[in-house]
Amino acid sequence: MASQLYSPMFIGNVKIKNRLVMPSVNLSYATAEGHVTSRVVDFYTARAKGGAGLIVIGAVGVDPDFVSPAGVLQLSSDDHIRGMTALTDSIHTAGSKCFVQLWHPGAYARSGEYGKTAVAPSAVLSGFTKETPRELTMSEIKKIVKLFGKAAERAKLAGFDGIELCGNSGYLISQFLSAKTNNRDDIYGGYEVSERMRFLKEVLTAVRRSVGPDYPISVRLAGNEFVNGGNGINDCITVAKQLEKLSVCALSITGGWHETGIPQLTMDVPSGAFVYLARMVKRNVSIPVIACNRLNIKTAEKIIDDGDADFAGICRGFIADPELGNKGMTGEYSLIRPCIGCNQGCMDHIFRMKPLSCLSNPDTYSDAMTAAKVRSKRILVVGAGPAGLEFARLAALKGHKVTVREAEKKAGGLLNLASATAYRKDFLKLVDWLVNSCIDAGVHLEFGVRMDGSDIAASLRYDFDHVVLATGSLPKEPDFPISSEANVFNARQVLSGSAQVGKRVLIVGSNSTAVETALYLSEAGTIDADTLRFLTEHNAESPELLRQMLFEGNRQISLLVRHSKLGRDIGPSTRWAQLATLKRRGVDSIMMDSIVLLDEGCAKIKVDGAIKRIECDSVVLCIGSDSSIPHFDEDAYAGRVTVIGDAENVGKLDAALLSAHKAAVEI
Ligand code: SF4
Repeated sequence: MASQLYSPMFIGNVKIKNRLVMPSVNLSYATAEGHVTSRVVDFYTARAKGGAGLIVIGAVGVDPDFVSPAGVLQLSSDDHIRGMTALTDSIHTAGSKCFVQLWHPGAYARSGEYGKTAVAPSAVLSGFTKETPRELTMSEIKKIVKLFGKAAERAKLAGFDGIELCGNSGYLISQFLSAKTNNRDDIYGGYEVSERMRFLKEVLTAVRRSVGPDYPISVRLAGNEFVNGGNGINDCITVAKQLEKLSVCALSITGGWHETGIPQLTMDVPSGAFVYLARMVKRNVSIPVIACNRLNIKTAEKIIDDGDADFAGICRGFIADPELGNKGMTGEYSLIRPCIGCNQGCMDHIFRMKPLSCLSNPDTYSDAMTAAKVRSKRILVVGAGPAGLEFARLAALKGHKVTVREAEKKAGGLLNLASATAYRKDFLKLVDWLVNSCIDAGVHLEFGVRMDGSDIAASLRYDFDHVVLATGSLPKEPDFPISSEANVFNARQVLSGSAQVGKRVLIVGSNSTAVETALYLSEAGTIDADTLRFLTEHNAESPELLRQMLFEGNRQISLLVRHSKLGRDIGPSTRWAQLATLKRRGVDSIMMDSIVLLDEGCAKIKVDGAIKRIECDSVVLCIGSDSSIPHFDEDAYAGRVTVIGDAENVGKLDAALLSAHKAAVEI
């Protein structure tokens, strides 16, 4: 039986064709003044065509005094209406409904971005910006309330089907709601959350006055702020019940604030981990509830079919694959380009004020080009890592006859190692998708075929018009002495499980591979999920001991860091969470000037000019990689050989995929 996810439902008087919502996300595609661009329209139109029932456009600023130059959309002036009208027209023509999320950053407005001190209910240091905002005066609050009302009027004129108020993630409305950030002793503060709701109620009244009695208004709330001293699920339920009485017609329930120490977006967050928040709210209201946070299409189907929520909000899934809804509806799950929770193109770009893109979907890069059909060539791709597969997929879609030869027995290259830790398995979803898409496009895949230089030259002479080298990289050679008795491995040997690593381990390096390797090795010996559940259910051990067993592995691990920031090449959305995990597991870092010698049972390092000896059983080298290309006379085949991915330039996964994508477009 088909999932109810694909059945229609009303929000207020607006019929949504299915239960799939694309929640708000800042694309940073607008102009510096917050106007809609053709890139904004194209992005959302593709998702509307791809099966999103409802798209929430946002965040959209209401305050002309707080306009981010980073391309955040605005409805703070009548001038914004025209562009927004073009956007809503295009979404409607493509078959979806659209709400606009009205937003004020409050304390989250970084002074460096906005050129002024942020404003907030109280002057409480922000855990997100690390800055202290200025407390709003009563008259300033009244002014902001009016700005929400005015923006709502413009939204209706621009053709939006409804309005969502941003009461989540730590922005202004949520700052008023929260016990952590609202210390006011006037009418906008209070001990109870129902007292701290006053600002939200006034905003609602102003918006309702602007849009009339029947126009849908929804509110997005943090089910739990997950910040010390902040609101929890019971506060959220209190607010939700009151909002229902105030004619709010839907609630979108998300997780914690941006400053929370509980990961919300990273790959280790299980799909649907925060659905319980929506379920608890839904039990207490009768208006539609939207569940969010790291949902994939199958989780979404289950949520709706189990009755945990009425709508499923999938944001990054729609970024990765605009056709997500259509493919889910027709059961083409294996062809859905997956969001793997890496944040490398989306959140990390947004946090750095760069336009949103997607690692999994190179089409989202502004300089990605459209692939046109061409005269067919016979192309050999050497290497079935992510770059080789991405090239092969797109080249085959263009009409080329593509063969991929891989030396190993399976596809994926380094992604197989990147997914070694339990919570990084989603990298394999990308590999699966690339393989499935290659097969679907008619690519011929051969495994266990090692190609040396003479094989490649022969292929060019006899069988293929063009060769693409996606041969990846090899670990760098160390530039320090290692005795023959030392027990030394590289990260690839460890992550592939082929190294016998001892109990006391030194990891040399500070890059993402070093962090991943430390996470992998420190996981060994910790309690697994089934055992934890069993012992907890039967109350077998104290919660303190169980918690300790979650972090206590069977190795003692230290990172040897050459005066560098640990994990410097990991994106801001993920680095803090990985380093916090290492800390909980007792992995420490030792700063050093250099390695003097890796010897049997020890490493001799130089620290502040003095030699220090550290006992260890094994050393793991994470000192980077060099491109690897088979040797042959490339000049003899000028114009018939292309090098992509790490083989061209060792870098991050998104760069490898983009280089493959561009090469396939150009060929
Ligand atoms: Fe998902 Fe990563 Fe793409 Fe973001 S960049 S949408 S997390 S796959």
